[in-house]
Amino acid sequence: MGMLRLTPETRVPMCCTASEYTVSMYAKWLIALLCLSLGATDVVKEADPKVLTAIVSFLASDALEGRDTPSTGLTVAGEYIASEFRRSGIRPVVDGTYFQDAHAVVRRVVREGFELSFRDGEKTLNVGLEKALWNAGPKLELTNAAVRKLAFADLKDFSAASVEPVVLLSGPVTGAGGALQLINGLAAKGAKLIVLLGIPAPLAQVGLEFDGKSDSGPVLFRTTEGGVEEFLKAAGPLTATVKLAEASRKAETVRNVVGLLPGSDPKLRDEYLVVSAHYDHLGTRAHEAGDNIYNGANDDASGTASMIETAHLLAGMKPRRSILFVAFFGEEKGLLGSKYFAEHPVVPLWRIVADLNLEQTGRTDSSEGPNIGMANLTGYDFTDIHSYLEAAGKSTGLKIVKNERLSDPYFMASDNAALAAAGIPATTLSVTYAYPDYHQRGDHWDKIDYLNMAKVTQTVAQGVLLMADAPEPMRWNPDSDRVKGYRLAAEKLRQMK
Ligand SMILES: [Zn+2]
Repeated sequence: MGMLRLTPETRVPMCCTASEYTVSMYAKWLIALLCLSLGATDVVKEADPKVLTAIVSFLASDALEGRDTPSTGLTVAGEYIASEFRRSGIRPVVDGTYFQDAHAVVRRVVREGFELSFRDGEKTLNVGLEKALWNAGPKLELTNAAVRKLAFADLKDFSAASVEPVVLLSGPVTGAGGALQLINGLAAKGAKLIVLLGIPAPLAQVGLEFDGKSDSGPVLFRTTEGGVEEFLKAAGPLTATVKLAEASRKAETVRNVVGLLPGSDPKLRDEYLVVSAHYDHLGTRAHEAGDNIYNGANDDASGTASMIETAHLLAGMKPRRSILFVAFFGEEKGLLGSKYFAEHPVVPLWRIVADLNLEQTGRTDSSEGPNIGMANLTGYDFTDIHSYLEAAGKSTGLKIVKNERLSDPYFMASDNAALAAAGIPATTLSVTYAYPDYHQRGDHWDKIDYLNMAKVTQTVAQGVLLMADAPEPMRWNPDSDRVKGYRLAAEKLRQMK
């Protein structure tokens, strides 16, 4: 593993001389001590829990309607993030603006003309429209088509060359990553419609296409209508008749929000660190009664607020490398914004030394028990980024920990994955992984632990500063077989210089 190295010949630490800190003698002494222990890197100010409360409560307010991609709520959230960059003096980087426009063709499900029925010998079951959900795809018309029953657990070793056009796929889902890829893999074998039974895979009722590329997976379908699942599970050989209209198509623009803090070192300023978070969430579910807004306070208004505040904390400082602060669209629809960013980088990709992505930095009530005074990293040992955050955590009093069970599986679960695939050392920092209200309507802003979040945010800012000032760029773990593919991608990236 790479060690954290800080050179002794660096500039005088601002924290030891600045007068902007109105602190007690004891705190001054403590800061001086930290300056020594951190080498030459400055000590970042504390983050303000009230500022974090303000940012999260706005982004997660009902007025923004769950920040779906695309939606008016998302557009407003993007404008707000840009205005926060202006407050902090973070510079625009794309043609004088904070917005990286991505022109998309947006597909939406057309519900008119729906028909789905199953026939078991003499018995016919008509599936109702009201509780039916499917993803935006091509027109589908099948009459008395053959139906195959499969369990998710069978997919891993499913070697048949072809499969029936309609598949009934039953849960539970086993294993942490790649479930959707396994399911979508059935399309290559001929599946046109996959009916999910007890599998909570996201159904993209809105699909986005960029650069003329369309994702051609099978149509996934689910219904919560009473009796359907029981009928299908108990039925003998089945045939299915299906009529789904082609999804509508419309040109729309979605945006990554990007701000720049230029580096101060003449040599290192051409290298960039990315601090990122996704600002989208799941939107609303019009067919659900009552509160149907998915506010996404912890996921990921919290990470977005931590990113905004990290930018604010670092704006007055002089990091040696440049730092890009990025809010991604479309994470919830399959890392769309980060993939777009990696395919249309605003600075040459090979100049980006690392991505620290922020997710779920607010709540401490993890489903595994309270997570106070600590933060997790995904793919903990994949890169040496953890060593910078550990050092930062020592100065702020936050433990940076590896969740042995979830650290690696969650590596592919957020936007860091899109940059990692391009070869950039990347990780996601979170306080909790699973928590009550995850992807539910109750993910509200008043359930966040803002005192803890302030400490996490200060630690992030301190860790980012350490990375920005480090003499060597961040790197993939040279001793781990698990990151071989990423090391190869990094090698390719270096050849682009
Ligand atoms: Zn998220």
